[in-house]
Amino acid sequence: MRIDIISIFPEYLGALDISLIGKARRDGLLDIGVHDLRDFTHDRHRTVDDTPFGGGAGMVMKPQPWKEALDSLVGRADSGRPRLIVPGPSGRRFDQQLARELAQEPWLAFACGRYEGIDERVYEYAAGTLGLTVDVVSLGDYVLNGGEVAVLAMVEAIGRLVPGVVGNPESLVEESHEDGLLEYPVYTKPAVWDDGTVVREVPPVLLSGNHAAIAQWRHEQRVRRTAERRPDLVHPSLTGVDLDDLDVRAATPADVPELLVLTRACWLEEVAEVAPRWRGPNESLAEHTAALTEWQTWVVRSHGRLIASVRARRKPGEPHRWWIARLMVAPDQQGTGLGRALLAHAEAQAPADITEFWLNTGRWRAANQRMYKKAGYRLLPGSSEVHEVAVDLVKPRR
Ligand code: SAM
Repeated sequence: MRIDIISIFPEYLGALDISLIGKARRDGLLDIGVHDLRDFTHDRHRTVDDTPFGGGAGMVMKPQPWKEALDSLVGRADSGRPRLIVPGPSGRRFDQQLARELAQEPWLAFACGRYEGIDERVYEYAAGTLGLTVDVVSLGDYVLNGGEVAVLAMVEAIGRLVPGVVGNPESLVEESHEDGLLEYPVYTKPAVWDDGTVVREVPPVLLSGNHAAIAQWRHEQRVRRTAERRPDLVHPSLTGVDLDDLDVRAATPADVPELLVLTRACWLEEVAEVAPRWRGPNESLAEHTAALTEWQTWVVRSHGRLIASVRARRKPGEPHRWWIARLMVAPDQQGTGLGRALLAHAEAQAPADITEFWLNTGRWRAANQRMYKKAGYRLLPGSSEVHEVAVDLVKPRR
């Protein structure tokens, strides 16, 4: 990967000679060129700034030295053009995702601003006349004196993703932000360490040699740490929903597209293995919409996402029975108690004259049947003769 950096303080970028990035330069993995913007001035004082039009404090970087510096990069190119990154607090936030994206580029150029920034026409020139992709990128919501520190951070984050720069590529996989979570706590020898006041031990699971248990512990630590330090990063599927305060609402036609997706996700296995002729998952949007008038349907949302649903109605020909159907919980939310809570909700909605709840489930769906059993349902005698692939279950209303 080729990287060019233009700055009025080229010596600031000397840190790129050190450690892994320095080694990658020496090994030829990163070809980093640092250029002094003042080399593209023509006056005795090598002036790069002037006062702002319209007044105001501070100075602005003049356009001509920038044009000449960029021309010298692009003009010298035998092939291709760099993607131009201009560090600035008003830009897109730099993060691991952008680092990964930029690590794919064969050539990056960085333009380090100083003072109040660079004359706006330089951006227009770079994008318009030179045809470069120009991104203004911010290191964070604070103001630095110049772009050099931001470039050091970005080049380090991008450079270590270039194959070969970090010796063991596996060490990149589990790091903070790679999959949206922060890293788990890490420990090294000794296993028991006396800090002079307290004897501190490494969590025993890490010494157990049980790799599955270690992986589970680390995952839990990552979720906990992310929730504590960066709640903005935690996906709602990881924190679960508050069963005592479920957001259950009557479904409307606006819910239908998501209901269709949920239906397909929940009955994928059922259809593949058990009931290939059952139409449920193949129902169209129109059929799902029509079902809203035949059934009372409820949906559960968490952070805006539809994660569960159930429907019920009086059973045709058996008006004392409340027929509960299509109890669906998104695959990543199963096992959280949400299904049980939603079942209880559907039961509670039954009209006063209902004396029995009735539902059916796949004959080979042992986990479902266990859940219904725990909720008080019993196999309806003779039901196994009625269906090829399902069983009927009933529960008297108390
Ligand atoms: N007047 C500018 C503004 O308010 O957006 C701030 C200019 S700042 C004092 C000077 C230079 O520092 C910028 O041109 C940019 O190169 C760099 N800089 C400052 N804060 C930065 C940040 N959060 N991320 C990236 N670069 C930053």
